[in-house]
Amino acid sequence: MHSYNPRMKYCSACGGPVALQIVDDDARPRFVCQSCMAAHYSNPKVLVACLAYHGDRILLCRRAREPGRGLWAIPAGFMEDGESIEQAAARETAEETGVDIQPRDLLLYSVLSLPEMNQIYVTLRAELSCMPEIKAGPESLEVRMIGETDIRRDEWAFASLLENNRPSELFREIRSGRFAIHQMRLGGSFEDRYATRSFRVTEPIR
Ligand SMILES: [Zn+2]
Repeated sequence: MHSYNPRMKYCSACGGPVALQIVDDDARPRFVCQSCMAAHYSNPKVLVACLAYHGDRILLCRRAREPGRGLWAIPAGFMEDGESIEQAAARETAEETGVDIQPRDLLLYSVLSLPEMNQIYVTLRAELSCMPEIKAGPESLEVRMIGETDIRRDEWAFASLLENNRPSELFREIRSGRFAIHQMRLGGSFEDRYATRSFRVTEPIR
């Protein structure tokens, strides 16, 4: 099932009315402006999250905004134009927690496809060299370095995006220093609602 941007009524180029039409031999209809004939394409957005850790603790924000207000999540947000995923993760972390991370220190942790939400959720990880000084940004009620027993399962935001054992698996990886790269999907028209494959990281080739 494909979802279209239901809010598109007028052309963003000329303000004319749009209608769903097949363009050339495209497989699915696009919003096409009835005045200037511009075709408007809607594509998934990329969310980037940062898993910053030190010892057995993770940098977590208690969200000030919906969705998940009052619940804990790692810093995350939509990519801006012109950014790399590493720059986006470092920027979101600085904005939400006051913690500075160098983009080059961020390594791929997971890629989660969310076909029903038209989003791709990329998580990068970085080990902090010391316990960081924290300054909660406007999107966070509180920011803390959190250990596994400090919060309950139902205090994590976006629990539906997590497999049952995700938080404990996360802490196990952090404690051991041995990480996997997780290739995940939630939802979409597949037999299984959740799919994940994990690949152990040995060492960077370069
Ligand atoms: Zn137009």
